[in-house]
Amino acid sequence: MADGAPPPRLQSRLAHLSGTLLLHAESAALYALSPAQAEEMETALRSGDRAAAAMLARLGLDAAEPALPEQGAPPPVRALALTVSQACNMACGYCYAAGGAFGGPQRQMPSGVAKAAVERLVADAPPGGTVQIAFMGGEPWMASGLIRDTVAFARRRAGARAVKVGFAMTTNATLLREADAEFLAEQRFAVTVSLDGDRAANDRLRPMAGGAGSFDRVAARLGPLSARSDRIKLSARVTVTPENLDIPATVAALSDLGFGSVGVSPMLASPTGSGALGAAEFPLLLEAMTAAGEDWLAATIAGRPHAFANLATALGELHRGRPRSHSCGAVRDYLAVDAEGNYAACHRFVNDPLGGMGDLSGGPDVAARQRFLAERQVEAQADCASCWARRLCGGGCHHEVLHAGRPACDFVRGWLDFAIGAYGRLMAARPGWFADG
Ligand code: SF4
Ligand code: SF4
Repeated sequence: MADGAPPPRLQSRLAHLSGTLLLHAESAALYALSPAQAEEMETALRSGDRAAAAMLARLGLDAAEPALPEQGAPPPVRALALTVSQACNMACGYCYAAGGAFGGPQRQMPSGVAKAAVERLVADAPPGGTVQIAFMGGEPWMASGLIRDTVAFARRRAGARAVKVGFAMTTNATLLREADAEFLAEQRFAVTVSLDGDRAANDRLRPMAGGAGSFDRVAARLGPLSARSDRIKLSARVTVTPENLDIPATVAALSDLGFGSVGVSPMLASPTGSGALGAAEFPLLLEAMTAAGEDWLAATIAGRPHAFANLATALGELHRGRPRSHSCGAVRDYLAVDAEGNYAACHRFVNDPLGGMGDLSGGPDVAARQRFLAERQVEAQADCASCWARRLCGGGCHHEVLHAGRPACDFVRGWLDFAIGAYGRLMAARPGWFADG
């Protein structure tokens, strides 16, 4: 890969221009400008916030200053990640769970803990409402019996209260058999398989605990899952490290394996430091993401499917235009539960005092959740309050920011700038794409 293009400069905190599409920073709304208006806006943005505010006013747009929204009590929890197995049969060097056990002893969640967590989740949901349960690890399928029992229990309890329940699992897939695929299909699971590229790339990054490669083992187990893709929502998740930066090649390799959806996640912080991207790699990451995005856009405009999920997700969010106050739903309506029955801010915060949110005996700690959400709100972050991308980005993954800071903001802004331009091109070529999709 050649050296990446420099990321777009910071511009004003009030707005950002990508071609002739204007992002109104505070509302995350997009406006199509005429070429003449875009030229005027470009000049205004170069001159700073006062000129940008005056130009926004001429366009009839409010130049709202960044403002902290009111922080009321957090909404009820509607999604839980159950850390059913704090152990793993693999040994990925970058693992956020430090080999599956989150720095503690290996263990499996007792059935009583899983049931108590589900009971509380369902009891807090109104009749007709929906709850989501994700099974996480370590490798969750090491606790396959517990998953089956918990699904049956959740179905019973949710059915009794007319609550709908959805299930998900993130797995390395090395332990799944044909009968397991049928169970996951019957229960309409969303299954995310972790895989880092073709055999060579994957096996460097994702060895089994004994050191052997994992790719062939996973590939042999995918057939029963993809054969049931009408009932299993199957996707691949790639952790991007300096070792597997060729994202278009990775997406192509995983498409060939049968994945219709491939999402990539740059590794910014790992407990060991192993596999984390550094400053030198972020321009290359942006170039690789942009290349995969161009592939997705060309295929989509031509009416062909393409598996690269990151751009589809980003465009969906731009289209909905909902400004973010945080980067994700962690703590707001989503928590994790560990094997001992402690609530954590999300699946990555298990055993991490920075993300403790109470325990099953007392229920989710409302004061801790409120404090976390107030402190982590994007406008409360010194770096973010002046960033044009704040309402699209939300301030970054809480876990990564708390442990590694914000090393990748130029990459994030570069990616969002590309996504805004891609949105304009998609709408010009396929104006009904979101309605059709
Ligand atoms: S994390 Fe970085 S890119 Fe995101 S809003 Fe904050 S400063 Fe901007
Ligand atoms: S805090 Fe980070 S790891 Fe946790 S749910 Fe949010 S984005 Fe994901």
